[in-house]
Amino acid sequence: MQIEDGRVATFHYTLTDDDGTVIDSSSGGQPMAYLHGAQNIVPGLERQLAGLESGAKLIVDVTPEEGYGAHNGVDPQAVPRSEFPRDADLKVGMGFRAQGSDGNEMVLFISDIRGSRVFVDTNHPLAGKTLHFDVEIMEVRESSEGERAHGHPHGPGGHHH
Ligand code: ZN
Repeated sequence: MQIEDGRVATFHYTLTDDDGTVIDSSSGGQPMAYLHGAQNIVPGLERQLAGLESGAKLIVDVTPEEGYGAHNGVDPQAVPRSEFPRDADLKVGMGFRAQGSDGNEMVLFISDIRGSRVFVDTNHPLAGKTLHFDVEIMEVRESSEGERAHGHPHGPGGHHH
């Protein structure tokens, strides 16, 4: 069975940057599951996985434009820790939704935490980076009605709710 729109694919991956530094990996854990065509994963990876079958192994290179976007050149801004909810477990790299000055919702990322100052970035931590995914397709299956309605897979490697 080939990966195509409406099917769930499960894969192991190791993500490295141009220097070969490992950014993320499913190795030793559960493979990642996604619903093809539902934008669960970055566009460049999804596009290049189309048509593959279980057992396929390949390296997928993804440009920033098809990954987490080009870097917009704007430096992170310091925000007082007190502006975040007291019980929020803030971590470097985490994203959150906020309302911009124009009233539109935007996603911001925490790039650094120094004492009572939290540095907030409009760029995804991987913005501007070419991504190299070392991928092994583990399983391809039809999705359930519920998965298609939710736009993501359920069960192992997917959502639990
Ligand atoms: Zn769901």
